[in-house]
Amino acid sequence: MPILIKGKELAQELRETLGKRIEKTKSQTGSAPGLAVIQVGSDPASSIYVRNKQKACQACGIKSYGYELPEEVSQAELMELIDTLNQDAKVNGILCQLPLPDHLDEFAVTQAILPEKDVDGFHAVNIGLLSMGRDCLVPCTPAGILAMLKAYDIPLKGQRCVIIGRSNIVGKPVVQLMLKEHATVTIAHSRTRDLPGLCRNADILISAIGKARFVSPEYVKPGAVVIDVGINRDDAGKVVGDVDFTSVASIASAITPVPGGVGPMTIAMLLENTFQAYLKQNNVSEE
Ligand code: NDP
Repeated sequence: MPILIKGKELAQELRETLGKRIEKTKSQTGSAPGLAVIQVGSDPASSIYVRNKQKACQACGIKSYGYELPEEVSQAELMELIDTLNQDAKVNGILCQLPLPDHLDEFAVTQAILPEKDVDGFHAVNIGLLSMGRDCLVPCTPAGILAMLKAYDIPLKGQRCVIIGRSNIVGKPVVQLMLKEHATVTIAHSRTRDLPGLCRNADILISAIGKARFVSPEYVKPGAVVIDVGINRDDAGKVVGDVDFTSVASIASAITPVPGGVGPMTIAMLLENTFQAYLKQNNVSEE
């Protein structure tokens, strides 16, 4: 049986430790970290994500400020709110839940958030710093993947890592993080030739495609580590990953489940980013 990489348990431990770190720092600064969460419209999936993020904040001592805007809010109104939050000292991090309705310019919105409050790590300044290997706010899902690999002592240096999916929020930043760890990285996408053959070279295979049970044993080298980022519903409505878990688990050396793998780590990293933003903005460091 492979090692099951239990993101849910690890995220819980990280959140508990973070709660203690926040408590300790609060006695220095006299204030709690603050995260503003903006939701436009009432998409049920977005509402669940936003509620989970707010609950997680409260549980570890981060103050969350929720802003629910109507579906038909204008670009100017949304930008005005971001401008106000950028200037609000009690708000250390700003998150605008994506996707936004079609009439809103998602790029303009993510770039309007001050880089130092950009806890999602989507601002061009943070992406640029990440690609230069510099200190920055790292996108939460990629940061969570790296934290899991490290927590399970999975060797990265010199390892061959293949990432399927080239999105700005998952695939591309994972490349930068893995390069910094001295892995040899290949990124694949829908136009990649012989995807199964390419993936079979990987010591570490990371899938961020968005297709239920797409990755079968044909894509996996026996003994590889498999990280499943996908969150999909199968025909029966069950939440599943990109990886066909049962068959791939029979040949992998370690694997993440869905649910309970990458997802909870993403939230844990959002909390960590908010705390890091707060430390910087208050000019304090942890003792
Ligand atoms: P995007 O839709 O932005 O990107 C998907 C990528 O997969 C694209 O690069 C696309 O290629 C590639 N792709 C699609 N089909 C294939 C195929 N048949 N073969 C090879 N590559 C393919 O998705 P995201 O990165 O936003 O999300 C990916 C998945 O991860 C989703 O299921 C999402 O729900 C989940 N997710 C989970 C998170 C978590 O916390 N666990 C956080 C964020 C996302 P191309 O560029 O050529 O179109």
